[in-house]
Amino acid sequence: MLADILARLSKLAVGVLAVGAVAAAPACASESDDGGSADEDELRRGGKIQLMVTVDWEGRDLREDNLRAMENLNRRFPQVKIIHFLNAGYYTKQAADRADVTARINRAVRPIDEKGLHIHGWKRLFEASGVTFRGAPTFWGTSLDANGRECIDDCGHEVPISLYTSDELRKVVKLSLDTLEREGFGRAKSFRCGGWMAKQAVRDAIAAEGIKYEHSAVPTVFLQEKLGNRPVYGWLTELWQGTTNVSQPFAMDASAATLTEIPDNGGLADYVDAQKMIDVFHANKAQYLRDRRRNVVVSIGFHHETAAMYLPQLETALAKIYEEAAAERLPLESVTSEAVPRARAGAR
Ligand SMILES: [Zn+2]
Repeated sequence: MLADILARLSKLAVGVLAVGAVAAAPACASESDDGGSADEDELRRGGKIQLMVTVDWEGRDLREDNLRAMENLNRRFPQVKIIHFLNAGYYTKQAADRADVTARINRAVRPIDEKGLHIHGWKRLFEASGVTFRGAPTFWGTSLDANGRECIDDCGHEVPISLYTSDELRKVVKLSLDTLEREGFGRAKSFRCGGWMAKQAVRDAIAAEGIKYEHSAVPTVFLQEKLGNRPVYGWLTELWQGTTNVSQPFAMDASAATLTEIPDNGGLADYVDAQKMIDVFHANKAQYLRDRRRNVVVSIGFHHETAAMYLPQLETALAKIYEEAAAERLPLESVTSEAVPRARAGAR
């Protein structure tokens, strides 16, 4: 009994930590039409270790080596669903061939996968949406000259989209959703922000455009080594204060609706090697073993544009995670966003 209470207290602490500095209700209660919460349903069924494998499509390029790396991942782990945060920025490049872009993306996206949305501050994407481009300050504290040589083809990947107003961002979100839907990828219900910079204006814009799940909360400890001396690191540390490698889904308010925030608690492969991903799995497994009735989410991932370089790290971790789960008969399941009950405003 005492152990049970302690386990519940520890869960609560995790939830509170996860909320951190953002204005949000405490963790993970959800909509239910019978007056019982999904939490209670979960308790009756028994919990699972829910694995999310995510990929951010940066909108820069669709190179053969990176597409091959993703095809290899799908061949090697056919049972693992992938959450693709797709980017409409490929379609607004100067010489974009729409059919070719769609065909390339489709080489990596399967019917079992989720098609979400990712947005970076690409100049051409923002201009195509009717928004005046802003070029400063970038993640690195620099300024882009919108009329300069570096912007002739396209630029702005390193511009945090949180520089824009929510009204401006709504236009970009809408154009992105419309474009991806037109190309056969459905209308995204989930989102991860470029550079994890999902500040309030971004959250308001995506909620107003119908996004339900937000995936940008990140433990900045993973980013310290590569980004520790850059402005973006300070911004993210403030934005996602208290987010850890065991942070779990929680409700996050936006002006139009409440978003369900699913923390990127295992980060992305460019910053997190195989052993660190396995460590994140172990930390969440320990949370699960303290109270087997509750789900725990483990989120790991990579970027399309660096897949050839970093996917081997993620595959090593995946192999080990599945091997360990089988050996220990853990209820590991590959899931997409909709496996997480939707949060509601003010839920406890
Ligand atoms: Zn990105």
